[in-house]
Amino acid sequence: MDGVRVRFAPSPTGNLHIGGAHTALFNWLWARHMGGKFVLRIEDSDRERSTLEYEESIYSGLEWLGLLWDEGPRAGGPYGPYRQSERLEIYREYAGKLVDRGLAYREGEAIIFRVVPGEIVSFDDIVYGHIEVKSETLKDIVMIKSDGMPTYNYAVVIDDYTMSITHVIRGEDHIANTPKQILLYKALGFELPQFAHLPMILGKDKKKLSKRHGATNVLEYKDMGFLPEALFNFLALLGWSPGDDREIFTIEEAVELFDIKDVNKRAAVFDMDKLRHINQEHIKRMNPDKRLEAVKPFWEDLGLPYHNHSSDYLAKVLGIMEGRGQTLKELAEYTDYFLTFEPVKERVDREYAATSKEVLGPFCEDMIKLSQWETKALEDFAREWSNKKEVPLKKIAMPLRILLTGTKVSPGIFEVIELLGKDETIKRLSHWGILNVSE
Ligand code: GLU
Repeated sequence: MDGVRVRFAPSPTGNLHIGGAHTALFNWLWARHMGGKFVLRIEDSDRERSTLEYEESIYSGLEWLGLLWDEGPRAGGPYGPYRQSERLEIYREYAGKLVDRGLAYREGEAIIFRVVPGEIVSFDDIVYGHIEVKSETLKDIVMIKSDGMPTYNYAVVIDDYTMSITHVIRGEDHIANTPKQILLYKALGFELPQFAHLPMILGKDKKKLSKRHGATNVLEYKDMGFLPEALFNFLALLGWSPGDDREIFTIEEAVELFDIKDVNKRAAVFDMDKLRHINQEHIKRMNPDKRLEAVKPFWEDLGLPYHNHSSDYLAKVLGIMEGRGQTLKELAEYTDYFLTFEPVKERVDREYAATSKEVLGPFCEDMIKLSQWETKALEDFAREWSNKKEVPLKKIAMPLRILLTGTKVSPGIFEVIELLGKDETIKRLSHWGILNVSE
């Protein structure tokens, strides 16, 4: 056997959905692990429902996830064309051979394969094990429809064979199709590839994953602020694990450890909380510059003026958010007050500021006399001040936090104050009338 050749064969009748991405990913992993080839084939034989827009959107989804194909549309390759609608000649040719040999018959324009009873059709699935059915349970197989287009079960056999596919890795919903395909392989005298069917993905309610469970289009996850490497990590865990208890891994680690034989046939549950957790872990592990670049589009969407600040400042902002925010979008939202005072003004009312003034006023007057504007010095000062004046620290910290950030949850308030800087802090406190420095 030559090197491993696998394929992902989506029908461009919809966007790249979670199930499709899962299948593509396992194929890609197996190809990369084995140093083989990952082929993309567009199964557009349903002319009514296939569109070029969906095709484009599938490419974008795969590219975003990093599942680049070695052969296929755009990439080219020696086994093309890679779009079924461009392979009609090939399908006609092989179907004609079966008619000539009396194994298939014509019915009008259609060509139909005759299933002979009394045969056991069996295969050993890498994931599901031995599967067999009696041929009498199968009906004759339409190969070419009266409109001249091939059916899925027929075209897939011709394509996988002529593209020298070694492993057919696809969703378990195709197990039922496999015996029909095997009959065609045998009739045509083709050597069988190995089959590996992947477990079904269920929603948390154990029903087949659908729109009801949340976004199904992969690119929606991009817009929600998920990192491709996190979605990759999450999808890889649906039916596979690296062997130890490790839940967080890089794409490179998955490539190294993946083995198609380790795939588990138990249906896998799509757990959004787990995806969010994995995303957070990947955000934490990101290089600060990359993380900054990844958050920028989300600040942009929120209309926040990140370009008014230095990269150094913005990277520090994200740095002190460590552990807060499970998506890039949340990170962008949770840091809005670092970029501009405006959202704080919207979230806090003047009355609140007025009632805080009695305690905060004297505290802040003293605070701005500090020469060292950094967390530790600010904290020490606050602690001493609260002891001396017998005012509990939290009576200072909470209103200070609310007036500066417009929220009750933020990183340590003195870290926030250090980062905002003395001028900005004074400006904000003056706005609320806590300090009497003119704006
Ligand atoms: N076009 C089929 C699908 O999207 C491909 C199935 C297969 O991989 O054989 O389900």
